[in-house]
Amino acid sequence: MKELVVNPYKDVNWKNQYKANLHTHANRWATGHSELDPHEIIDLYHAHGYKILAITEHLAFVWPWEKFGRSAENLGMLAIKGAELFNYLHQTLCLFETITRTADNDVIDIYDAYDEMEINGASGILAHPRYPLYLEKYDLNWYIETYTKYPCLFGMEVFNPKYQEAETWWDKILSILMPQRPVWGVAGHDTHIIANEFDKNHTIIMADRLSETSVRYAMENGHMYFLNGETPRDVVIKNIHVDKDKGSIDITAENTQRIEWITKNGRVIEVGNSFSYKHNDALDRYIRIRAVGDNNIAYSQPFGFIDIG
Ligand SMILES: [Zn+2]
Ligand SMILES: [Zn+2]
Repeated sequence: MKELVVNPYKDVNWKNQYKANLHTHANRWATGHSELDPHEIIDLYHAHGYKILAITEHLAFVWPWEKFGRSAENLGMLAIKGAELFNYLHQTLCLFETITRTADNDVIDIYDAYDEMEINGASGILAHPRYPLYLEKYDLNWYIETYTKYPCLFGMEVFNPKYQEAETWWDKILSILMPQRPVWGVAGHDTHIIANEFDKNHTIIMADRLSETSVRYAMENGHMYFLNGETPRDVVIKNIHVDKDKGSIDITAENTQRIEWITKNGRVIEVGNSFSYKHNDALDRYIRIRAVGDNNIAYSQPFGFIDIG
């Protein structure tokens, strides 16, 4: 018999769905990896209904926006402090707090930087894990070891328009780490060139309010789902409800054609709005949902299970 031990959507306020992007470049005081002006970026995201934005320039924290005369609050947005660490080491989105060792030549071992993130109270997302440079350098064991060692690395960028999708890779990691150590998935733009990357996906964060404390809590606890596909990305997850007595998970979603339930190694073991887990022999240690619409797909976070005989 299976018992549910990880429910990312327990006590989630489904009414507050904030559209977010946690990976964008804009050049300011910085490195020249992006030609984009931060004003242009902010206006573009605001115009497209984004409420949460982290400008994560390479090796530079473009924050607070007030430094260049902008107010996220006046736009009804939340600006998250962030930067993308490293060029040739595993690129990592460092959020909420800064660290000093942000460049390849500042660290001999990437773990020195992650140690500093832990000490300073930052949290992080491993960016585009299928980046061509990583394929041999960072194997599955590295991800398992790294996520196990560093709780501050709460997430993985499953979709990034420039690189190979990492959904399969995410399943490989979840297959080993669940239910002890969930890794929350996000989708990111990595906007360098607006036409190629902007708004190719998005992440929805369900937070009690649009404050740093609420949004950070929501992100670190997996109160999120993410979408990719063509605009308008109209799949909306309205609610995911767990009934522990019945041993079922039910999803309510709009504009879907099909709901898929996915377990170990990406295997779809059920189709439909309801999933019974208690006596489900096909179920491994996690299940996640793919809500498939016409031209877009929404992805839930994983639920975790233990076997209680
Ligand atoms: Zn990158
Ligand atoms: Zn980037």
